[in-house]
Amino acid sequence: MSQFLTQIADIRAVVSDLDGVAYRGELPITDSVAAFRTWHRRGIPYAFVTNNATKSAEQFAAKLDRMGIPATPAQVFNTVSGTAAVMRGRWPAGTRVFAIGEEPLLDALRQAGYHLGADDAEVVVLGFDAELTYAKLRTAVRAALGGAAIIVTNPDVLAPTEDGYEPCVGVLAAAVSAAVPGAASIVVGKPEPLLIEQALAYLGTAPADTVMIGDQIGTDIVAGQRAGLRSILIASDIPRDPGAVAVPDGIVASLLELIDGPAAPA
Ligand SMILES: [Mg+2]
Repeated sequence: MSQFLTQIADIRAVVSDLDGVAYRGELPITDSVAAFRTWHRRGIPYAFVTNNATKSAEQFAAKLDRMGIPATPAQVFNTVSGTAAVMRGRWPAGTRVFAIGEEPLLDALRQAGYHLGADDAEVVVLGFDAELTYAKLRTAVRAALGGAAIIVTNPDVLAPTEDGYEPCVGVLAAAVSAAVPGAASIVVGKPEPLLIEQALAYLGTAPADTVMIGDQIGTDIVAGQRAGLRSILIASDIPRDPGAVAVPDGIVASLLELIDGPAAPA
């Protein structure tokens, strides 16, 4: 067993990504379900951080629960609440915002008091939107040309699905910045450490006692390291960014290795 894995008994708390760690699309990853059930039984606290802004914390918790992972909304930190938090720190209620995204994100922005519309936007929010159209892209680009700030929920270019990958928000952000290279932009989700810091505050544990688990080096592992956590990569077939410089503290094929150690060779 690697030295890292022998130290796993020291884990006091877990912060974990969702897509590609707990499940792929609607398919639970069975070893991960078993690992979280074990941590739950042993009283190891855990929280989830996801760049996905298409569901509310309540919806994510219900999805995890349905898959057999005990979870409450308070344990889920995503770019819906994260985006609203970042916005509140910079722009007052009533600011005109053009947002590309799905209902949970739009709803959170309305709840935060922002005026959503296409005209004279001072801020453009770019989030995942399965109904993305040319008209929405045009509105976003025109607002950016007019000097609007750009908030990007997450920089992921690919999101894992049951049958492969789909283009994600990073592709949309790249399109806008190709058109308006000088636009000022802020990223909310991983690799920025905000969501991890929110999860740590909830867990109440020290960064050194907490591990970050993710399936992508450029977002999960970097964000975990920026927040001071040890990081574990769950190996996946996602195309690796050859420019990624972060090195995880450990790499596992299954989360059960964090509980039982690596499987003996057959
Ligand atoms: Mg992931």
